[in-house]
Amino acid sequence: MQLEYVPTICPYCGCGCGIYLVVKDGRIAGVEPWKEHPVNEGKNCPKGKNAFDFLYGDGRLTKPLVRENGAFKETSWEKALALIAEKLKKTDSNSVGFINSGKLTNEDLYVIQKFARCVMKNNNLDNASRFCHSTTVPALISTVGSGVMSTSELNIDKADCIFICGTNIKETYPILARRVIRAKRKGATIIVTDPRRTLTARTLADIHLQLNPGTDTALINAMMKTILAEGLEEREFIEKRTRGFQELKDYLTSLDMNDLERITGISADVIKEAARIYAKAETGCILYNAGIAQHLTGIENIRALADLAMLTGNYGRPGTGVNPLRGHINGEGFGDMGPIPVFYPGFKPINEENTKLFEGYWGVEGLPSTPGMTYMDMVEKCSVLYVAGANPMISAPDTNSVRKMLEDKELLVVQDIFMTETAELADVVLPAASWVEKDGTITEVDRRVQRIGKAVDAPGEAKPDWKIICELGDLMGMKEKFNFNSPEEIFEEIRKTVPQYSGITYERLKKAGGIQWPCPKEDHPGTDTMFVERFATPDGLGHFQVVEYKQPTEIPDEEYPYVFSNGRIIFHYHSGTMTRKTEKLNNEINKAIVEINTEDAREKGIKAGDEIILKSRRGEIKAIAKPTDNIGKRVLFMPWHFSESSPNVLTGPSAGPPSKMPGFKFCAVKMEVKQ
Ligand code: SF4
Repeated sequence: MQLEYVPTICPYCGCGCGIYLVVKDGRIAGVEPWKEHPVNEGKNCPKGKNAFDFLYGDGRLTKPLVRENGAFKETSWEKALALIAEKLKKTDSNSVGFINSGKLTNEDLYVIQKFARCVMKNNNLDNASRFCHSTTVPALISTVGSGVMSTSELNIDKADCIFICGTNIKETYPILARRVIRAKRKGATIIVTDPRRTLTARTLADIHLQLNPGTDTALINAMMKTILAEGLEEREFIEKRTRGFQELKDYLTSLDMNDLERITGISADVIKEAARIYAKAETGCILYNAGIAQHLTGIENIRALADLAMLTGNYGRPGTGVNPLRGHINGEGFGDMGPIPVFYPGFKPINEENTKLFEGYWGVEGLPSTPGMTYMDMVEKCSVLYVAGANPMISAPDTNSVRKMLEDKELLVVQDIFMTETAELADVVLPAASWVEKDGTITEVDRRVQRIGKAVDAPGEAKPDWKIICELGDLMGMKEKFNFNSPEEIFEEIRKTVPQYSGITYERLKKAGGIQWPCPKEDHPGTDTMFVERFATPDGLGHFQVVEYKQPTEIPDEEYPYVFSNGRIIFHYHSGTMTRKTEKLNNEINKAIVEINTEDAREKGIKAGDEIILKSRRGEIKAIAKPTDNIGKRVLFMPWHFSESSPNVLTGPSAGPPSKMPGFKFCAVKMEVKQ
């Protein structure tokens, strides 16, 4: 039998590396790097090299299931969808919510949000971006007008100073990290802020600012204060392209460097050195992720970074800007397509004017013109919850409370490729096609729209997510609104409703590397650098924001003396649904390990390999102790890929408007050795 090579995109992180799926006898037999692909240039990280094994492990869903007398029973698609439609028709539309995922394609997401809006007449839509970059969007809209990555991944190596904040890119974006390594070889200085001495800090950083957890704003303010004190700000850029400078200057001048040194735990001399290097760089690039964004103060942290970049004129040129590194394969698309409570597709805010616009696009009346519920509000308040590709039992904070709320639903529908922890609680489970079993597009971290291609048939009766929703739309009496026969037909509608995508076609996306939006016309090459002449704010100017340092709400005390944080490691991805079913990756690490400062471990009599119990005010989990000097005193870190020891049992739900971001990266815990 001949081998077939199908080009597609790695299903894991937002780097968007090209791969070839090797198909033999209707099955994926291997993965080969896509050498001509500009993002990864023929390289893949361990996850990309093993990007298909999980498809053939145990537990793929192949038939619709309904719960009867507490147990799942196989049923037909007709019966499963009829049951859902009947319940949706009888339920108050405000009580129905839709949780979706960055694993889905743009076409899947577009159809889901259209269903919620046109059929259920609500904006109760959200996804895991609530838990990673819901702070990014309001923070960057208020400063530069748009929450997107401002440079291209491919231009990072043009920077001569790269400031990496709260992200361990060597493990979480390994291929993007190659561009940082390349820049360093060309002479760039790398500054890393992280409370841990991560692999990135140890092997890439020229300066590691090992700050106290949760003090990012104080650190960035200290850097800006230094820049102003030493006259290193970019005067011409500030005058021509920004406003609000004087207020920021007055505020920074009022701060006491000794206070900032004490809060951050970093000597003023080291902060000043980092500030000078970034300010004097010809091209300064800021990369950040969850370590900055996943805080109750995430919006403030990101606004401060945008201030820093504007103060030094580091916007509008290749390799500059403030760049959020979104984690999912479709990390940008799951904002662009509008499956969120406050934006229609194309980041058009939910208001009267845009509601009229979309009523016109879709030929419907009565679309809701007020924002819908966010992720946790839906988990708490909706009586019917439709979960497509997401796993709130692992991703959402305070898991014990989430379980109770999901168990109380009148109807919980889960549409996924595996029986996830959330699906186990569902009333109806629908088998979905995976990313190798359907066509579509995804939009990567740097606004890069790319095509994924169907390589094999889905197992059993599994169907693409978009198709399932279209069939449900038909049952709900809206056949003509969901009469799509292919993802390309859906994409053609996206081109009409999302102006950033107007010039992109399936034909054009055959090119390796895809096209970066905005792309307004079919002869437009796409946009690698944002904000070249003006920012995306209504007046075209960058808006400086005064950002005050705020102490985290749950600070350690006598009873809970440690700060607990969590993150990703190279061998696993998010809730582990795929990577833990991949033997080679799971063999690398298959247990939750907690990093403990060596002295703290000694004081508590803890040795490497001991089983530890971590307790917060919300619950407790077990993990294996790993004493290390790479983490500061009284700080603990563990990966969050292991459902049996999910850090979100410990983390708190508290989150304020407008982002409703939980404080994932900071909560107070105590630890005990398991006897
Ligand atoms: Fe896949 Fe990300 Fe690794 Fe690239 S860097 S191969 S996209 S996991």
